[in-house]
Amino acid sequence: MRIVLLGPPGSGKGTQAQKLGRNLGLPHVGMGDMLREALKNRTSLGERAKEFMDSGKLVPDSIILELLGERLEGTKEGFILDGFPRTLEQAKRLGALLEKERENLDAVINLKVREETILRRLPGRLVCSECGKVYQRANLSSSTQRCPSCGAPLLSRTDDVSDTLKKRIEIYLEHTHPLIDYYKKKGILQDVSGEGNPQEVFDRIVKILN
Ligand code: AMP
Repeated sequence: MRIVLLGPPGSGKGTQAQKLGRNLGLPHVGMGDMLREALKNRTSLGERAKEFMDSGKLVPDSIILELLGERLEGTKEGFILDGFPRTLEQAKRLGALLEKERENLDAVINLKVREETILRRLPGRLVCSECGKVYQRANLSSSTQRCPSCGAPLLSRTDDVSDTLKKRIEIYLEHTHPLIDYYKKKGILQDVSGEGNPQEVFDRIVKILN
């Protein structure tokens, strides 16, 4: 199965993609995660991506496509893609890549959330520095600074601060939102409410995929 998760920052794409990947036994390909990993490992791609990520802008396609190409090579059985595509150009690139393999996307899940939900979720987001699991500060006991799953330190994302956040939402509306119509016209878009807790959202997605 080849699934794309679409949605604004804070809609829960990463959380749901991780859960779906585990549940369906498919690799989770998270573009933002791959970029943060490249940055952490100080690779040249990571260094080149840094200034764009820090300011909430889109990283140039030359970097994105190099990372994606390498990662998709080992995913013959399918994937759960989150954070890519983010522009019409990227969507067309993905279509061309799959066509070469005589494959298609099976579903594009569009996570819909209210702006007030985004603005509440993102400043409270904590990410595990090791396993990448995402938590809400309000859902953890106040003394917890470590990942309940693997015990590594939890960190805030440097791009979850207000100015960068505003820029990321603007970029979503200008460049990524048009993908909803693009995939709707292809007949593979499924709208899912991203409101509520992660398990509730996950159950909605599974119901639709079934
Ligand atoms: P995310 O973790 O999906 O919120 O992505 C974090 C940041 O990585 C974004 O704000 C962009 O700077 C960069 N990024 C992630 N995916 C892409 C993409 N498909 N194209 C360009 N930049 C991206």
